[in-house]
This record gives sequence, structure tokens and C-alpha cells, in this order.
Amino acid sequence: MSAKPPAERPHVALEPVVCPCCDSSESTVAAVGPDYDCHTCGDQTFTLVQCAKCQTYYLNPRPTTAMLPQIYSADDYYSYSFADEGNSIVLKARLARDRQKVTGILAALNRPASGVRAMDIGAGDGSLLEAFRSAGASGENLFGAELAQHAVDRLNARGFRGLLTRAEEMDFPPDSFDVVTMIQVIEHVATPNKLVKHLGGMMSKGGILFFETPNMKSWDRRFFRKATWGGYHFPRHWTLWDPETMTRMLNDSGFDVVSITTPPSAVVWVWSVNHVMQAWFGNGRIARFFSMNNPFALALFWLLELIPSKLGRSANMRIIARRR
Ligand SMILES: [Zn+2]
Repeated sequence: MSAKPPAERPHVALEPVVCPCCDSSESTVAAVGPDYDCHTCGDQTFTLVQCAKCQTYYLNPRPTTAMLPQIYSADDYYSYSFADEGNSIVLKARLARDRQKVTGILAALNRPASGVRAMDIGAGDGSLLEAFRSAGASGENLFGAELAQHAVDRLNARGFRGLLTRAEEMDFPPDSFDVVTMIQVIEHVATPNKLVKHLGGMMSKGGILFFETPNMKSWDRRFFRKATWGGYHFPRHWTLWDPETMTRMLNDSGFDVVSITTPPSAVVWVWSVNHVMQAWFGNGRIARFFSMNNPFALALFWLLELIPSKLGRSANMRIIARRR
């Protein structure tokens, strides 16, 4: 258990940064809000800015490296990340979704799963790797990187190759992976374009980079734009993109975009509504009704996302890029 109740937790130290994608320091304020999701820094608020030069959004100022243990304090963050465990409807939906992702990746790679070497960064409980294995890949070619030993142990116990490492510190020779996946990871890292280049250096030519990250051009972002949009995830989302800025970042980092689609994201809606309820009524029963554990809310918001999804305006971007 955390030592202090959420409202009493100390503020974190912040440092000013330049744009993580183009190093410009000119920007305008886009949104301001507190840590609605994990309550790790009491009532402290954070500011998301938009770069005046390249239009990328980034948190500025942002927590110093020394503050990472506080903003990712294990109890709060992992219970939040794995909130969908134990609910069989949500788990089944997740398995179907992961199989769909793998089908798309293998189609872009244009080869069958057997022999494919894949690395999932932020592999969680190994659900995406499991989808690769059920498509025909071998567990010994399926790597999963995680930041907590218990997660690595679980990956190894399931027959995958778990690694305790940050993506930036991963060290593999060129042509080690045909596929690298990162689901909701790139927005958390300090230097995303450096990371993408680093991953490219470990991939085969023509290899597929597959990742998902929030979509700043989504309709729901406009609706909740000032503070409460679920995609902001203050203060842990450090860089946010839209399809145009993402395409430019990938092109500058040695990748060609195969596709950017926007699947429905019920989760971001659930968070947004939860945040509005917190802002209006505090973090009580009404806010908690809108959580990842509520299959009714997830189903409702999934339906609401169907039209924006077709028009490139859902809350989530799914990116498939090919290493040059
Ligand atoms: Zn910039």
C-alpha cells in the first residue's frame, strides 16, 4: 500500500524541456490538468504544450527523472494498468483484439508467423505475444520487455523470453527482430524519435514497427480538450501526436508509414468521463462507476467511437511502419 493517501502526496519536481521532436522551445499551452488516474502528486497540475515549429504536443515542464518512481508508484500504476484482469468479457475482447493486431502485422510483413522474431515493449502479461504464438510463431522467438520483475517472471513462465529493461537501454545487434510492437508506450518516453531510430537499428530491413498511441486529432479530444481528456494521462504522457506529426516523425527516423488507422477507443472515453466526474463530484463512487471494470460503459463508448473511427477521428492511433 502507498504510504500516504492520494490527496496528501507531495508534488513532484519539474524541469523545463524543449520539443522532443524538433528541439524548438517555442510553444503554446494546449491543456492543464492533475493526475486524475493515479493521484500520485496530490493536487499538482501539469501543462501540455504544442510546439510552434513542428506542432507536436509535449508535457512542459515535466517531472525530473528522479520523480519517475513517484509518478509510476507501483501500487497505483500497476493496479491501473491491469485493471481489466479478472473480467472475462473484457479479457475475451482483448484476446480477439490482439489476434486482429497480429493479423495486420503479418499482412504488412508479408510472411507467415513461423520464424518471425518479435519484440513487444511493455508486454504486460504477454497477451499480444500469445496472439503471435497462436498464429504460428515460436515462443523462443517472442521477446517481451517489462519494467517490473513480476511481469518478466510471468512472461518467462508462459514460455516467452521476458527481459527486464527499458526500451532505450535494450541492446541487440542489427537484424535481431522482424517485428517490434509498443502498445501505448511511445508517449511515455523522454526522447521518442531517438527511441524509434534505436529500435530501427535492431530490426531487419523491411521489418514492421507496430504501435498505438493517443490521437490528438480525435473528436473526443476536442470535447474534453482543456483538462479532462483521457489521452492526456497527466503527468505520464510526455509526447502526443496526430497522424500528420506522427508520419513526419517516422519518416525522419528511418521508417515509411504503411498505415495509420484509428480503431475505436472505449478506454479513453471511460477515462475522460471519469475525469469529468472527478472534477465535478470528487473521486468518489460516481467517478469510479466509469472505470475499466465496467463492461457496460466500455460497450457504450465503443459504439460511440464507431463513426469517428471510420473517419480517422477516434482517440487511438494504430500505426504500422516499415523500416527502410
Ligand atoms: Zn517541435
